[in-house]
Amino acid sequence: MKLYSTRNLNDSVSSPIAIIKGLSNDGGLYFPKLNDIENKKIDIESIKNLSYKKIALKILSIFFDEFSVEELEDCIESAYNSKNFKSYDEIIAPVTKIGDDYLLELFNGPTSAFKDMALTILPHLLTKSYMKCELNKKIHILTATSGDTGMAALSGFMNVPNTSITVFYPTDGVSQIQKLQMKTAEGDNVDVVALNGNFDDCQKLVKNIYADENIRHICDSKNIVLSSANSINIGRLIPQVVYYVTSYIALLNQNKIKIGDLVNFVVPTGNFGDILAGYIAKLLGLPIDKLICASNDNNVLTEFINTGTYNKNRVFYKTISPSMDILVSSNLERLLFILSNDDDKTIVQYMNELNTTGEYTISSDILDKIKKDFFADYSNESECKESIKIAFEKDKRLIDPHTAIAYSVLNKFKRKNNSSAVANIILSTASPYKFPRAVLSAIKGDINNNIDDFHCLNELYSVTNVSIPTNLSILKNKKIRFETILNYDECKDYLVNKLVSC
Ligand SMILES: *Cc1c(COP(=O)(O)O)cnc(C)c1O
Repeated sequence: MKLYSTRNLNDSVSSPIAIIKGLSNDGGLYFPKLNDIENKKIDIESIKNLSYKKIALKILSIFFDEFSVEELEDCIESAYNSKNFKSYDEIIAPVTKIGDDYLLELFNGPTSAFKDMALTILPHLLTKSYMKCELNKKIHILTATSGDTGMAALSGFMNVPNTSITVFYPTDGVSQIQKLQMKTAEGDNVDVVALNGNFDDCQKLVKNIYADENIRHICDSKNIVLSSANSINIGRLIPQVVYYVTSYIALLNQNKIKIGDLVNFVVPTGNFGDILAGYIAKLLGLPIDKLICASNDNNVLTEFINTGTYNKNRVFYKTISPSMDILVSSNLERLLFILSNDDDKTIVQYMNELNTTGEYTISSDILDKIKKDFFADYSNESECKESIKIAFEKDKRLIDPHTAIAYSVLNKFKRKNNSSAVANIILSTASPYKFPRAVLSAIKGDINNNIDDFHCLNELYSVTNVSIPTNLSILKNKKIRFETILNYDECKDYLVNKLVSC
């Protein structure tokens, strides 16, 4: 499908090029035109007996039609297999009960985080894209991470031919468990560096490396291209449409709904990628009533969806749901592109205002459309902890802090709307064992600050008896492979040495 820069309709590319490039030259994001999506409605009846992999093939074939069926099948098989998603052979994203509502479990992948849903397949889409474009190059991925993305990327690219990856994380900016996950990462083509600095320093470093003449020169001579596994890549977005469709089908097959019944999805939102995938599912004809956008104290999206003003000039809070601690939600640009009927000039205007003044206000026409399909609210830290406790005690479900934000916002939604006839599906984005300290203290009350994350993890198990994902339970006994700690100024030389020895 032809993809356009959200900031310039004259810049249009095929999907393999968009996957290779990530961003367009003008800083826009690649996306199809509204009509092109709406012309591809899916017929639920005809796919209701298909597996996750088969439905993935249907959806990916719509957007990535420059790939052959065999190529897409290869990518899908490499990602959604029983090695990556062990405990739920062939189901991949199970739908389970929580009270009167449902949990769509997106955390059963290799690193127990929702990022796995896209980062297991992206490396394969990326290498296939290079082959199709006859660019016979080796791909080196650079990733700056504040936690989950780094590990999911390391796992996704592990031993993928013709690729290698370096991840930079802030030494003191990730949890003990996240750190150990990365230090023990497997694969001959992966590398991990701890940076003396914060997450912003890591991001600045990666940007600087891309812009560095000397490094570009070395890459050219070694036939290497630098790339990122960034969350704005269309190759990460489209695979996320799949589980919206399969969860609807799961409820059909459990006789909880009939074909055509509307459902709500509740999405713990950060960069707006996950919930945007839900909106794409709706454009394809999936019967969705509301997409409920749940935020934490960083509630810039709540304000935007309720008032039409996006204002990033605000206090930044570090919360116990860190993957949602975001002030600029990049994928929102794609929603505005669709809702303005592909009006690139309007998008340029909004994004310029965001860059210069830190805020913009959308037209009332676009705001009305947003309000028709979205509901937004947020929950604070104590509401989040309270929700973890209630879900455990009342519903007998152990949920992580991100999922708890969604759970809490769903209850606010229910109090404001009497729509009990509609099934509510909460997207559950991480294993509670990835955040054992926050979850344990929510259930038990205050815990001793001196005990480490692994004690919290084990105690959480003894209190709840919910099984620990294998990738986390074996962590403590895994071999440490990466202990490099560098200052900002040392990183470029370090990378140059790496690239030269490639
Ligand atoms: C990334 C992430 C989110 C937010 O998803 P977006 O696509 O950025 O909105 C929510 N929960 C967890 C656990 C995540 O890792």
